[in-house]
Amino acid sequence: MDKNNEFFMPPRPEEPLESDCCGSGCSPCIFDIYRKQLLEWEKQCEMLIHNKGVLVDVESNQHNIPVLSQLKFSPFQLISIEEHTHNTYFYTFQAVKMPELNSTASGVTDYVPDKRFLNIKIGEHLIMNGRSTETNKSVISRAYTPISDVNLHSIGCFKVLVKLYEDGRMSKYIKGLKKYDITEWRGPYGDYKYLRASHRFLIMLSAGTGIAPMYPIAKSIVDDDLDETFIHLLFACRHFEDILLRNEIQALTLYWNFKAEIFLSQATSQVVETQSRYSETVHSGRIDKDVISRILSGKKLDQIFVLICGTKPFNKDMINFLKHFGISESNIQLF
Ligand SMILES: Cc1cc2nc3c(=O)[nH]c(=O)nc-3n(C[C@H](O)[C@H](O)[C@H](O)COP(=O)(O)OP(=O)(O)OC[C@H]3O[C@@H](n4cnc5c(N)ncnc54)[C@H](O)[C@@H]3O)c2cc1C
Repeated sequence: MDKNNEFFMPPRPEEPLESDCCGSGCSPCIFDIYRKQLLEWEKQCEMLIHNKGVLVDVESNQHNIPVLSQLKFSPFQLISIEEHTHNTYFYTFQAVKMPELNSTASGVTDYVPDKRFLNIKIGEHLIMNGRSTETNKSVISRAYTPISDVNLHSIGCFKVLVKLYEDGRMSKYIKGLKKYDITEWRGPYGDYKYLRASHRFLIMLSAGTGIAPMYPIAKSIVDDDLDETFIHLLFACRHFEDILLRNEIQALTLYWNFKAEIFLSQATSQVVETQSRYSETVHSGRIDKDVISRILSGKKLDQIFVLICGTKPFNKDMINFLKHFGISESNIQLF
């Protein structure tokens, strides 16, 4: 038999070490993912044994090992930091290969970019591993949702929009990051898979950084000539200066099948009137029952699918309003 071709069983998922778990109860827990992957592996092996194995090219299979893993953190270099609003920043990361013995004489490590495709689907999130700024121990992990598209992913990069909280533990770690620092990420995760043209109306209810999964989904729909889904985004923020991706959202409204309404809970009607841009729909107030009633009216309920991403109280309110007007749970996706 050719040495590159042999009967091959998929590699058993590697059990995470106790030290791989941050212990902060994050979801999904690395051990749950391991158990799920182990079950899938056992099933695959059973099938292969039943079918007497499959012939695969071992060498090309090794090249297909994905850059990102759900079980192990992979190194990514921070290649760009851009201020977005007063408390949010865009961070772009590049996958890198961990250097073996290629450190320079000056002791500075050269990281080689890993430009392989990152298989991150729209709306999926990654988990970043951080170190407490007090103890420098790896104890924090938090979820972030890439807002980048396939163009960046195809060269091993992704971009996230992060809100930094004064008292946030991960926020402090991220604030301390400098360009070219090495960070650790695992994933992607997420149980929502957008299928082209699967709904007539897609209603997006988001608050604050909850816009992160919505933007790439909306962008992919308007960019797809074969998808005639009509999107209605309702975006809740506090003030004008808190509106995230404002230019990007405005650009989407140029498409026939995208409509956005921004709700500012802390801006008066007068401020809204003077500071709204041409072609922007901004309201003073919150997304309440009446707003939900208005956007649902005249539509067949079974043609509507709703995506929700915000704070826990926001999500709870939105679900209650939707259920009140007859939207079934199966037509709601909570991020
Ligand atoms: C699936 C998923 C995807 C996410 N994607 C993103 C993303 O793309 N961009 C992003 O910036 N964040 C995102 N988050 C939130 C992120 O994971 C962290 O929770 C956030 O960065 C705060 O972490 P921290 O350690 O700095 O704050 P913590 O130490 O956890 O909290 C400190 C304080 O910050 C405040 N705080 C923290 N989170 C929130 C919140 N969501 N709303 C209101 N107040 C809050 C509270 O006052 C809290 O007491 C996502 C979360 C989930 C679950």
